[in-house]
Amino acid sequence: MKDNGFTKKIAIVGTGFVGMSFAYALLCDGACDEMVLIDVNKEKALGEAMDLNHGLAFAKNNMKITAGEYSDCADADIVVICAGVSQKPGEDRISLLQRNRAVFESIVAPVLESGFDGIFLVATNPVDIMTRVVHHISGFPSRKVIGSGTTLDTARLRYLLGEYFSVDPKNVHAYVMGEHGDSEMTPWSQALVGTMPIREILAGQPEKYSESALTEISENVTKAAYKIIQAKRATYYGIGLALVRIVKAILGGENSILTVSTKLHGEYGIQDVFAGVPCVLGRDGVSGIMTLQLEDEELAKFQASCNLLDKVWKDSFAEK
Ligand code: NAD
Repeated sequence: MKDNGFTKKIAIVGTGFVGMSFAYALLCDGACDEMVLIDVNKEKALGEAMDLNHGLAFAKNNMKITAGEYSDCADADIVVICAGVSQKPGEDRISLLQRNRAVFESIVAPVLESGFDGIFLVATNPVDIMTRVVHHISGFPSRKVIGSGTTLDTARLRYLLGEYFSVDPKNVHAYVMGEHGDSEMTPWSQALVGTMPIREILAGQPEKYSESALTEISENVTKAAYKIIQAKRATYYGIGLALVRIVKAILGGENSILTVSTKLHGEYGIQDVFAGVPCVLGRDGVSGIMTLQLEDEELAKFQASCNLLDKVWKDSFAEK
């Protein structure tokens, strides 16, 4: 990280749908002072930098936007990795692992060679395992290697609950935890609208709200990416905004709570696995993990999700 602490610099590796939705949202938000775009397809990165620069006259803040090389990561605060293959219609995230592992081997080493000492933020799927890959290759402290985790799933959940209860999603406090993928789970015992537990709202108005509707909502959250990919090939606006939210929490030293993917050190009875859990995020990355009082069934579901991630990691990566 830079000594002066004044210029906020983000390097984005992978200028596809996700990388560029993030870059565009960053520009609109004015969330950094400098943005470097890196891609194996250099011409694409150049074109994207030109296109964004042509919006600067209308942007909130001035910003230095360039297409660059890995050496440009040296003084970046955050390197955000969005490179790699994405899901085809019907494909799950875990099946991308081997292809994206090769991509990451070609990315993390040159970023480290640049002297980069900031925070890695990973969006590439399967995001929990790819984040563990970056941690493994880089040897960085785990607080500095973060995945987008279930940040987007949590936003999808809050949106759907907001619709169901007719309140602003910002006043819905509920998390999706575990794998960003098919085994993720929602601990309903922890879900609030305003300060009121959702289960109490259900008990108070059984004619209006039901447990089965909540189950349907959490299923729709898990299936959301499949539906969007079927309809328009890829998902990118939601994750672009989620990445901006994470980056702002870090650069602003906010100590905000977001469900990023982080390494568990015994929390929830899980060791070493990277999974989405509510974390305190600030200038040094993850400064704390919230250990929620999950009900037994919820804890079992969360642990099953983490165990699946651990198995995929051990089967596919660790021994090779
Ligand atoms: P995309 O195909 O549009 O873009 C991928 C980019 O990566 C391309 O520009 C490509 O040239 C670049 N790339 C490939 N190999 C590279 C390498 N070795 N070095 C540098 N750049 C390389 O894909 P996308 O739709 O932007 O998706 C990117 C990733 O994000 C996928 O893995 C996708 O599943 C994931 N994703 C994650 C979330 C989330 O919530 N975390 C949401 C949506 C998508």
